[in-house]
Amino acid sequence: MSDLQATDTQAPALSQPTALIHHAYRPPADFAAPAPGVHKASTVFFPNVAALRSRDWKDKSAYTYGLHGTPTTFTLEERIATLEGGAHCVLAPSGLAAIALVDMAFLRAGDELLIPHNAYGPNKSFAAVELAGWGIQARYYDPMDPADLAARLSAQTRLVWLEAAGSVTLEFPDLPALTSLVRAANQGRTRPIVSVLDNTWGAGVAFCGFELGADIVMQALTKYPSGGGDVLMGSVVTRDPALHRELLLTHMRLGLGVGANDAELVLRGLPSIALRYAAQDAAARELAGWMQSQPGVKQVLHPALPGSAGHETWRRDASGAASLFTVVFDDSLSPERVVAFCDALKLFRLGYSWAGPVSLCMPYERADMRGRDWQHAHGPVRFAVGLEAVADLRADLAQALEVLRG
Ligand SMILES: *Cc1c(COP(=O)(O)O)cnc(C)c1O
Repeated sequence: MSDLQATDTQAPALSQPTALIHHAYRPPADFAAPAPGVHKASTVFFPNVAALRSRDWKDKSAYTYGLHGTPTTFTLEERIATLEGGAHCVLAPSGLAAIALVDMAFLRAGDELLIPHNAYGPNKSFAAVELAGWGIQARYYDPMDPADLAARLSAQTRLVWLEAAGSVTLEFPDLPALTSLVRAANQGRTRPIVSVLDNTWGAGVAFCGFELGADIVMQALTKYPSGGGDVLMGSVVTRDPALHRELLLTHMRLGLGVGANDAELVLRGLPSIALRYAAQDAAARELAGWMQSQPGVKQVLHPALPGSAGHETWRRDASGAASLFTVVFDDSLSPERVVAFCDALKLFRLGYSWAGPVSLCMPYERADMRGRDWQHAHGPVRFAVGLEAVADLRADLAQALEVLRG
């Protein structure tokens, strides 16, 4: 206590708890370092009532409350907007929360939304339960057939989801064809249809969603931008300020916020995203090609493989691929053998998500493939390649393939 009083003889003596809260602090003005500072707040102080009344967080030029942005979240938003080639960004606590945010910002009772039938499963579940309960009807289209989308656009359609490549089955759709159909349908509409791309697979690295025609680009930052397998976050990026404002206001009313430490983890992952994406892509392609020639394997799905749906479109529109490939096993194998194969893997761990350092395996049930015209006896097994040495991963697959064949 005597030290505190000795440093400033003008100030009234403070008790220890007060002194610790009101401790002198000078922000580091000349401290430049690779990582931006991590700023935490629920409360943000205003110097006076005039400042309080003049501050508006909506253009991100001022701080008002932690939920509406901190220097850390504003910095991450700017970088994610840059990653996606957009102008504005809002952050959500998970990729799925970002999906729900987009739906809730643009859909009202009586509206319809269109979702590709191979979309990320929880996107469809949210539509089937919450949106349906609010009087919003989801319809499903074949993303590999633009005519099918065209036939399903109606006067009630308000939102069209896109995904490239499709979750699990990894078909690569013709995004410019799909988005130009949406734009054509908007001629003369008072409430235009909004197209939104789930860009988690491309990550803003393999292609630019806006250049391929999407109005909104959403991403699970949980995957490549983080790269660590240790944080959940989502983003919604726009070029159009009017769309951004609608998202931002819904975001505020829903109270969606992200923590500064989580934002810090994603900021830390971003500088290496292009390198990680390329390295994991190369490793996945090597393993996918090798798997294709293995006995017991019926087909390997990966957009870079010539037999995969949308291969030519992927070649035209993308400069890389996420490190995912999906294996379809021979129909003659028993389901138990496929389970034994998955259980035999040692380096590939069983777990959801992808783009972290650890390679993952996820067997899907055949029943999960309903509505996708799935012609195979087994559900697909999806592999997510991490950052291990390819030779070790190949050896792991080889020993599990021995178990598969019994
Ligand atoms: C993982 C994922 C999501 C959801 O992200 P979470 O952060 O896990 O909620 C959404 N879309 C796709 C394509 C994903 O792979």
